[in-house]
Amino acid sequence: MLDKSESICNHCSVGCNIEVGSRKQTLRVIKPKENESVNKYFICDKGRYAPHAADSSDRPLDVYINGTKEAELNHDAGKLLKETLQNDFKYGGILGSEREDLISNVTLKELSEELNVPFSSFNDSDVEDKVKLAVSLSANSPSIDDIEVADCIFIVGEITEQATMLDLAARQALKKEVPVYLINSAPTLFAELEKKYSNLKRLSIPTNEINDELTKIKNQNDDDGFHGNLQNDIANANKPVILGMVDSLSLKGIQLLNEINENFEKSKLGFALPASGSYGAALVSQPQSCDKLLTSIENGNLKTLLIVGNDPLSGNQRKRWKNAIAKLEKLVVIDYIYSETAKEANLFLPSTAHVERNGVLINFEGRVQSFEASYKKELPLFDPEGLRKSLSSNVQTKINEFLNKLFITKPSVKSQGVLLTAAQIKSLINTSHINFKEVKTSNGINVEVYRWFGEESVANFSKEISSLSPQKNVLISKEIIEDNKGTECYEVKLKNNGKEIIMPFKVSKQLPKNSIALQKEKLNELNIFELSNIQLEFIKPLFTDASQSNNTGGY
Ligand code: SF4
Repeated sequence: MLDKSESICNHCSVGCNIEVGSRKQTLRVIKPKENESVNKYFICDKGRYAPHAADSSDRPLDVYINGTKEAELNHDAGKLLKETLQNDFKYGGILGSEREDLISNVTLKELSEELNVPFSSFNDSDVEDKVKLAVSLSANSPSIDDIEVADCIFIVGEITEQATMLDLAARQALKKEVPVYLINSAPTLFAELEKKYSNLKRLSIPTNEINDELTKIKNQNDDDGFHGNLQNDIANANKPVILGMVDSLSLKGIQLLNEINENFEKSKLGFALPASGSYGAALVSQPQSCDKLLTSIENGNLKTLLIVGNDPLSGNQRKRWKNAIAKLEKLVVIDYIYSETAKEANLFLPSTAHVERNGVLINFEGRVQSFEASYKKELPLFDPEGLRKSLSSNVQTKINEFLNKLFITKPSVKSQGVLLTAAQIKSLINTSHINFKEVKTSNGINVEVYRWFGEESVANFSKEISSLSPQKNVLISKEIIEDNKGTECYEVKLKNNGKEIIMPFKVSKQLPKNSIALQKEKLNELNIFELSNIQLEFIKPLFTDASQSNNTGGY
């Protein structure tokens, strides 16, 4: 017999309900749990398999000191954290995470206020602003049900890869022959449906040109073609839905989507956020919290940094974080993956995995949902709930006061969750400081992030799960291959800022012109930050291998 519990998937911001089956302190199975208001009876493959990272052979269950396992000491993670907070934290700072749940982030926030040290839940100041803006504009977000019954849908970004169950809902609408419009920059499985459904209209443009297209749509200044048809179809629809993927949009793009939405009386606007805890992280963090935390470290004002469930050294601002971390005297990382940041920690403390925790998540539409642990390992792991209970009554009161702004009674795991109101969101999110700076553009080859729909920050660290990822090719638009005489080649050398890698490649029919798409880990290897000057050189094979082809498989 399995021990069963009711939980919420934490592998994207949709917040699907799941049933967790465990036995002997190990995860055995994840099944969908019915919730009419969210995922009905379904979950995606990522939701089914990614939680098994909890039982990965790579999962760290020991304390590490300066990268060395201290298993034989059998340290108690909770006790070691308390010692750190008592002894080393006068000049400390705390970094929570978008993949930690609301209770964990609120606990860390209130702890930071008690200790009078800076706190953020974000490792990227641009992402922090984007998530806060998107959340502040999500008061009338469509549910999965609204998407399924929509009579016109406009999507910006790679929906399958960033919010798979929203893709599934949009497919239901496609099948009913309603007009669906998609703007994508990187390849997405959803775009493949254009081969089957003529009612799917698509525009493929580089990320840095999305705002120009959204401005045309907002100004209604293009009467025929994609823009004009989209405007007419939304205007004539009774239940139109607009969906933006925050990872694919700039701040300005998020604002433009809202302005487009305001042009139409009946449309609903929603955003898929970067992670399951993004919504809660936005409510908890003060304005510009990430930048303030980083600046404090850079100015030498902090000696110790506590990071819980975050991996800033794998994020877009990793260069800045690397330099900042080098200035610290002590880095303490708590996590259930041994991330790039965990490897740099002076003290690493293992934590409970998501399926081993109780907590609260807020999904993309602002639905507050509780989840419960399926089992507890008989190991002294750090647990956010344990930390909360160990804090003084004064801090616990403040945690409860904060949570009371969101719900008087925590929604039960058996309920369908509770939607936040526009007034609640407005009282907790301040976007007045946001600077809508224009995105810098590069004149060279356009580089996009290629996401596999099964990848995600936790699952990627489990070799059993990441091994399911399709072969790691670079995707290249057709004319680059033709212009550079690459048609008879199978591999390409990519060079950027003194780094180079050789990879197999595939032609992508979906990519915009003059573009390539690479998985995030390869972008990191090539040191590609905001602007790149990537160069490529096709490698001629010595012999022709009839079994290989560079013209298939890429989408
Ligand atoms: S759509 Fe997102 S929340 Fe739902 S099962 Fe898939 S990964 Fe989990």
